[in-house]
Amino acid sequence: MQEGYYLDPYQTRLDTHVVRHRDGGVVLADTLCYPQGGGQPGDTGTLTLADGTALPIENTRRDPESGDIVHFLPENAQFPPSGTAVTVDIDWARRHRHMRMHTCLHMLSEVLKYEVTSGNLTADSGRLDFNLPEGEELDKDDIEARLNRMVDEDRPVVMKMIPSAELITQPDLIASMALPPPLDKPDVHLVEIQGVSLEPCGGTHVRSTAEVGHMVVRKIENKGKRNKRVVVAFAQQD
Ligand SMILES: [Zn+2]
Repeated sequence: MQEGYYLDPYQTRLDTHVVRHRDGGVVLADTLCYPQGGGQPGDTGTLTLADGTALPIENTRRDPESGDIVHFLPENAQFPPSGTAVTVDIDWARRHRHMRMHTCLHMLSEVLKYEVTSGNLTADSGRLDFNLPEGEELDKDDIEARLNRMVDEDRPVVMKMIPSAELITQPDLIASMALPPPLDKPDVHLVEIQGVSLEPCGGTHVRSTAEVGHMVVRKIENKGKRNKRVVVAFAQQD
């Protein structure tokens, strides 16, 4: 199965066919829908049949057992049988906001170089939780200014796929990453914000930091003695 969301996150339409049904959804021969995971929601969109019937894709998730990407359809929908030709259109406005927010969270984890304990995003906001040294405080205005400086620098964001066997021979590169890359698969997916960071990530990102757009720090919450939650949102809610 080609998983187009990784190879080209800007592709919004794909002609493919139904392979099988699975727990309230359909598995397709190929897809470009991002399956919910890594704090990013699954894609929504439309599945259109040759006769013009349009079925809403309500969510996309990976089946943990088979690894299949399942496109969830409404309960009362008539599921197209296996072999049916379909066109997938993703809800691009929503996905693009996910891509901008996801890229912003990589930038935030560089602005605040602390251990990240969790993260999550929607089309409107994103958050990371950090473990800080005791007594350390965060400055909302400073975080915002540094994020927006990175936006103004218009740095290219590049996806890379490196064979695990090759990466293992570069311990310095591995050591430079904020997270250890998973080396149990043939290839490691990396995202590089040029001049800023290189991290393992299989998610969807925009092409440059300028495309993220200006951000605001909506709030900083205490989630424990050392844990702080930083919530960011788009400055322009268009
Ligand atoms: Zn990412």
